[in-house]
Amino acid sequence: MRRTDFNPETRPRHLILILGDQLDHHAAVFDGFDPDSDALWMAENAEEATHVWCHKQRLAFFFSAMRHFRDEQREQGRIVHYHALGRRPSHDRGGDFGEIMTKDVHRLHPDKLIVTQPGDLRVLRMLENTAKDLEVKLEIREDRHFFVTPDAFRDWAEGKKHLVMEHFYRTQRRRTGLLMRKDGEPEGGEWNFDKDNRETFGKEGPGKLPSPRRFRPDETTRAVLDMVEARFAGNPGSLDDFDMPVTHNEALAALRDFVSQRLPCFGAYEDAMWSGEPTLYHSRLSAVMNVKLLNPEFCLHKVVAAYEKGEAPINSVEGFVRQVLGWREFIRGVYWLYMPKYAERNSLGCSDREVPSFFWDGETDMACVADCMAGLKRYAWTHHIPRLMVLGQFAMLLGVHPYNFHTWHMAMYVDAVDWVSLPNALGMSQHGDNGVVGTKPYCASGNYIDRMSDYCRKCRYKPKRASGDDACPFTTLYWDFLDRHYDRFANNMRMKFQLKNLERKSQDELREIRQRADHIRERIDSGERL
Ligand code: SF4
Repeated sequence: MRRTDFNPETRPRHLILILGDQLDHHAAVFDGFDPDSDALWMAENAEEATHVWCHKQRLAFFFSAMRHFRDEQREQGRIVHYHALGRRPSHDRGGDFGEIMTKDVHRLHPDKLIVTQPGDLRVLRMLENTAKDLEVKLEIREDRHFFVTPDAFRDWAEGKKHLVMEHFYRTQRRRTGLLMRKDGEPEGGEWNFDKDNRETFGKEGPGKLPSPRRFRPDETTRAVLDMVEARFAGNPGSLDDFDMPVTHNEALAALRDFVSQRLPCFGAYEDAMWSGEPTLYHSRLSAVMNVKLLNPEFCLHKVVAAYEKGEAPINSVEGFVRQVLGWREFIRGVYWLYMPKYAERNSLGCSDREVPSFFWDGETDMACVADCMAGLKRYAWTHHIPRLMVLGQFAMLLGVHPYNFHTWHMAMYVDAVDWVSLPNALGMSQHGDNGVVGTKPYCASGNYIDRMSDYCRKCRYKPKRASGDDACPFTTLYWDFLDRHYDRFANNMRMKFQLKNLERKSQDELREIRQRADHIRERIDSGERL
């Protein structure tokens, strides 16, 4: 067939599938794109929105970013076949994602489908199977948003008994030259300034904090907010404070705002928490990065440039580089290396316990959980310490099944995509992967939360108490967790100190802790707030 026989509106040569987390104007799928014969295809996926009880802001962010991407592509003269969800299911023009795709392939008869490698193995398999059933070619192109391909990660992991993130990170620093001196040594004389990332705000608190830049919803976003509010009225979270960047330009403005206003203090207070202040000095760039509105390499160059100009200290800049170049790439590598079996891991042998009811509505007397949930309901986001050491830790100590925690995390966090959520939620947070992404579980008593925040001062529970009516549930469940898993961790050198402290407890103390822990579980299982 000659090129002129194609028409991007009715019979495209290539139909470029753009998924909701692939909003990259420079993706490999656009290589060789011919606007006279090729077209884009996008669909808002009702199934994705309903198979877990998704946070309203998460839905609004994805759909608004997709509609803006569609409009920007159309402004360039490209044809985009787009399926928008209606305010009611009866307003939709199709069924689920696979059904809509099938109908459109029958209608448009493209020669070939092209897609960037999805960030979810389930979606990749669905696309492959649908294309096979439809007898249409499917070309999967590398996601060049990332520094390291799954194959390159596999090569790096080959023959290693343990995958150590720090080793991977140093390899990437050397390979990219980021924060490296000309003599091959790391900038600042150290690879890692983690020890300088643990300041707290003390009794006085953080004082006046820089407010993160807010992005006022435009007409497109308002239409999405209206649709989500109408169609998903019963879903968790609130749209009242929707202020997210939803275009590449807005994402750039959010990056500039972070680098100029919050990066200098980001490192020192990376692990700190404070009531009513969910952002503190964090970037809140993970969502725009994970849907590819922001390029990580560009971000890193901007952050390193701030260091080189003397505008941000090394502990802030290295902390950010470690998260983006090290941790983010590492966990993506782990995902593709170990899937699909990774999702089945449950190395602590948890039952099928779900997250507690207050992980949806925040109704609890535990001041730390209530505040983290307030931030989560408002912004569909919390920074990594509330995520890991408050909500994640509580779920692990309670014995929530790690996959159930991942499902909840996918539903509630605007930045969660399968490749990022599974290793972070199931692996790092719940220690469900047998130590692939963390050699020890992230667990601590209420004293840790007391040290890093002001929460305990406002709480009816006492962080130092492990038993009795006013015992901190974290502290009770922490000792109970160590007690239940003593044999499992007995040979783990990194748990030695914690287990030694457990051994100092008398049998009477342990009996009271076990009783109190059982009581907490019974109350939660019966739907009581704690
Ligand atoms: Fe959280 Fe326990 Fe502190 Fe209350 S006392 S805020 S439950 S850590």
